[in-house]
Amino acid sequence: MRFSALKVLKEGLTGNKGWTPHWRDPEPKPEYDIVIIGGGGHGLATAFYLAKEHGLTNVAVLEKGYLGGGNVGRNTTIVRANYFLPGNSEFYSHSLKLWEGMEDELNYNVMHSQRGLINLFHSDGQRDAFARRGNAMINQGDDAVLLDREGVRKHLPYLDFDNGRFPIYGGLYHPRGGTARHDAVAWGYARGASDRGVDLIQNCEVTGIDIEGGKVRGVQTSRGAIRAKKVGIVVAGRSGQVAAMAGMRLPIESHVLQAFVTEGLKPVIDHVISFGMGHFYISQSDKGGLVFGGDLDFYASYAARGNLPMVEHVMEAGMTLMPMIGRARVLRSWGGIMDMTADGSPIIDKTGVDGLYIDCGWCYGGFKAVPGSGFSFAHLIAQDRHHAPAAGFRLDRFRTGHGLLDEEGTGSQHNLH
Ligand SMILES: Cc1cc2nc3c(=O)[nH]c(=O)nc-3n(C[C@H](O)[C@H](O)[C@H](O)COP(=O)(O)OP(=O)(O)OC[C@H]3O[C@@H](n4cnc5c(N)ncnc54)[C@H](O)[C@@H]3O)c2cc1C
Repeated sequence: MRFSALKVLKEGLTGNKGWTPHWRDPEPKPEYDIVIIGGGGHGLATAFYLAKEHGLTNVAVLEKGYLGGGNVGRNTTIVRANYFLPGNSEFYSHSLKLWEGMEDELNYNVMHSQRGLINLFHSDGQRDAFARRGNAMINQGDDAVLLDREGVRKHLPYLDFDNGRFPIYGGLYHPRGGTARHDAVAWGYARGASDRGVDLIQNCEVTGIDIEGGKVRGVQTSRGAIRAKKVGIVVAGRSGQVAAMAGMRLPIESHVLQAFVTEGLKPVIDHVISFGMGHFYISQSDKGGLVFGGDLDFYASYAARGNLPMVEHVMEAGMTLMPMIGRARVLRSWGGIMDMTADGSPIIDKTGVDGLYIDCGWCYGGFKAVPGSGFSFAHLIAQDRHHAPAAGFRLDRFRTGHGLLDEEGTGSQHNLH
């Protein structure tokens, strides 16, 4: 079924009876060429690109809950390509280009809105760092504009520019940055993969990974054993646990990240704003809710809900930046489990087990990476060699120290990235 304006019109006039399920609901087969563990954004995009780019369709995605019930449906939806370090910048640049073609590619409205992202700075030193980052982005072929204080004021007149602690000096404007409807991204990739023959198996938890003679043979699941020639692990916050099924100890800690949404308000925030000094970021959804978040809860946890001190911290940061936000009522908050690496950058690599691959460590920035990660991981699984833009995301950098990608410059403490 293709979506089109004509189809919407026809269905609207005929009682909306012609819509069909977006993906098939098959029983698992006993054997596949490739099994992907995890039906989040990255797993579904990987399956889609395996089918579309490499013609590999004897593929199953095994999801322990429902598709899109993990972080892909829990994030604050920010999409950007404003990374500084070689290794990261070309990857996110490629990912943003895939975002820009995604709706056509999937024939699905993911509400990708390039409304512009502004990273604020509050000191001369920070301005220098952002100027350098902006130049790196431009050199990479992406867009960046350094705004002075008045330049920021034109876009965001409602901010508190003269805050005693963090007066606003200016901002780095990334016009192609923005937001997208997060769960639609999962649904779009699911539909595209299913249409191409990939089996999406929900309520199917992987409980073990079968390995014989150093080679992967399949997986044990809550719905029985499934054999596979290749297996990809893409389970975000559960990466450490699932990798342990193959005897691996990953350089990952799982932490909770919370997000918040207010009641619907008239349009007020046209951009995505990032306030690094308070660690606070905000945008307004098309429904009118202010969607915002901040730092991780600072303890390792597998609970998909956070704690009150971080709620207070995030609210304080919001009030510091834009005191008017104190008039809005928070409707909901929730948490997701983040797979934090020690250098803040991800892993897309083979493992020590033949036929077993891993894609993880997206920290709290993996939504924007969904298409790029899916594309690069599919390339690695299909061709057994790295896709160039993701070639730096090697697992062994944590063992050798060579090629670490410490984008934040905060050292090896997972929860600081
Ligand atoms: C509050 C919050 C805000 C965020 N904001 C942003 C943002 O603004 N921009 C941005 O770029 N990123 C953001 N992120 C990060 C981003 O959402 C994640 O990095 C990304 O979604 C992780 O990849 P995923 O979509 O594949 O994960 P998930 O959707 O979590 O997918 C992993 C899947 O694996 C499944 N799974 C786990 N174990 C098993 C098993 N044993 N068997 C079978 N299946 C299993 C899970 O059920 C889950 O569905 C945010 C995250 C959170 C929580």
